Amino acid sequence: MSIKLSESPTTTQPLLGATLEELTAWVVSKGQPAFRGKQLHDWIYNKGVRSLADITAFSKQWRAEIADTPIGRSTLHYNSEAPDGTVKYLLRLSDGEIVETVGIPTFKRGGKSSRKYARNPSSNSSPNSLERLTVCVSTQVGCPMACDFCATGKGEYKRNLSRSEIIDQVLTVQEDFGERVSNIVFMGMGEPLLNTKNVLDAIRALNQDVGIGQRNITVSTVGIRSRIREFAQHHLQVTLAVSLHAPNQALREKLVPTARSYPIEDLITECREYVEITGRRLSFEYILLAGVNDLPEHARELAKLIRGFQCHVNLIPYNPITEVDYKRPQRQSIETFVDILKEKNVAVSVRYSRGLEADAACGQLRVANSNN
Ligand code: SAH
Repeated sequence: MSIKLSESPTTTQPLLGATLEELTAWVVSKGQPAFRGKQLHDWIYNKGVRSLADITAFSKQWRAEIADTPIGRSTLHYNSEAPDGTVKYLLRLSDGEIVETVGIPTFKRGGKSSRKYARNPSSNSSPNSLERLTVCVSTQVGCPMACDFCATGKGEYKRNLSRSEIIDQVLTVQEDFGERVSNIVFMGMGEPLLNTKNVLDAIRALNQDVGIGQRNITVSTVGIRSRIREFAQHHLQVTLAVSLHAPNQALREKLVPTARSYPIEDLITECREYVEITGRRLSFEYILLAGVNDLPEHARELAKLIRGFQCHVNLIPYNPITEVDYKRPQRQSIETFVDILKEKNVAVSVRYSRGLEADAACGQLRVANSNN
């Protein structure tokens, strides 16, 4: 593992995302003993403190001195829970922008599918019914990629999220559920590889400071020329998922307009390089739109395109959004698509998104404003 990317905290950079060493250097620079760095780290990452003024381990006088240094926590603007226990949060950032994040609990067989239970396990019957808690994090406010089937791209693109704004989403879900987050998917609003530096810094902190295994982290990208290769150079153990969505350039361009400047063959070549450089298998995401890209011929063409590749295909049946009239395929055509890929020895699974009823499923996150 080699991530060494974070910067020292500065007055403009909130503390969330800083390493133990950086926090220690910071407290020492303020004339405090070095062990206060460890305390600060614990209060920020484990205790979830929102203001330095609330760190009771520090003297009142010093707290008053440092109270204005931001930690980088957002405030909760709104949340809603789907019947499957998935919770969508709208978080207000320091400049008033709103970003969406999603908490996705997975319950053990027979476990309760209610967040109330997950949040307060002692209140109800069978203990430990939560098997996994996944957070779907956003990396930008809005998204400039404008994929035709995705709600995020229908709104206005605003800006990249900072490292602290990314990490904050994970801590927020962890605190609300009262459970450790086990998995992170960078599949919320935005294109992670347009914000690589902050995404890498956030991954470092989520891994080393929050304690989430790199192998439990997935970064999803639509594919930006040369960025996948650059990402590979960091030799992370995270999973890279590439949103392919079509087996040829003509169809891909229709669904993903930014693909016009990045031929599918070049994308696949870069993906192959990624596998060579990292030794990690890569995932392809493929949204299934009835009659558009879900026909048997598409499955065959897809299998051919990714032949001889260490990869896994994740099929995502389309989640409806209001702006376009695509349809989710019938179960039968999904099964046929899967069978063809399997026959051609392609590792494949179907991912039914969670949180549909709370508009929290893949592609349903949209730009909100604080008046909503
Ligand atoms: N920008 C990144 C991550 C965001 S979206 C990317 O493109 O990969 C995460 C996944 O959800 C992507 O594969 C995206 O294409 C898919 N998605 C977007 N809209 C969807 C919809 N309406 N239904 C199902 N999946 C969708």
